[in-house]
Amino acid sequence: MKFDTPITIALSKGRIFKQTLPLLSEAGIELRDDPETSRKLILDTNRPEVKIVLIRATDVPTYVQWGAADLGVTGKDVLVEHGGEGLYEPLDLEIARCRLMVAGFACARLGGHRLRIATKYVKAARDHFAAKGQQVEVIKLYGSMELAPLVGLSDLIVDLVESGNTLKANGLVPLEHIADISSRVVVNKAAWKMKHATVEALLEVLRGAVARRGEA
Ligand code: ATP
Ligand code: MG
Repeated sequence: MKFDTPITIALSKGRIFKQTLPLLSEAGIELRDDPETSRKLILDTNRPEVKIVLIRATDVPTYVQWGAADLGVTGKDVLVEHGGEGLYEPLDLEIARCRLMVAGFACARLGGHRLRIATKYVKAARDHFAAKGQQVEVIKLYGSMELAPLVGLSDLIVDLVESGNTLKANGLVPLEHIADISSRVVVNKAAWKMKHATVEALLEVLRGAVARRGEA
């Protein structure tokens, strides 16, 4: 495809980066730098108009919201916590799929008063229990949520589950499904207007790539 305007795309290292590259490649965007060996945070591509910035997964919506990147790819989990202000969410790439779940010991109480929930996903956890009319105490953590019930920090956790192996290895089980998670394209609202033709052309290629993958 042709790029009429310069465009900056925000991605996070890890699974989203790996799974987004083949999709970008369908739009004729190939990386010049190897992120595994390079320490650069702004990566050049074969298209002088297209730059890729590598940032922490949870920071992607913030960079796009403030226009430091025109668009980005971010997990729905991250998007829910961010709130989505200043962003459009035009496309589900259907990559990095997993589920947001309540988990704990198999014998854990799910009801009752003032359960303590440890999680990185404070907003999603609050919303989930509020919707059930349950008052809970949410404890914010930044990682290794599985440890919390084992050491008595919390009754339950809210975390992403793919295979369930991490839970199982720690004697925990998934108890309640909160949401199906996948990665979304988010676009800065100003860029959506000012760079509409370029953004829309890129989205069109990505939509096609997602659809073809769905058929395969
Ligand atoms: P950091 O480790 O820097 O805090 P992170 O743990 O959020 O970042 P990743 O583990 O790469 O980074 O996760 C990025 C996104 O991929 C998540 O926001 C989520 O949408 C998705 N994801 C996370 N864990 C899984 C998983 N087990 N299976 C599928 N997708 C996942
Ligand atoms: Mg991680």
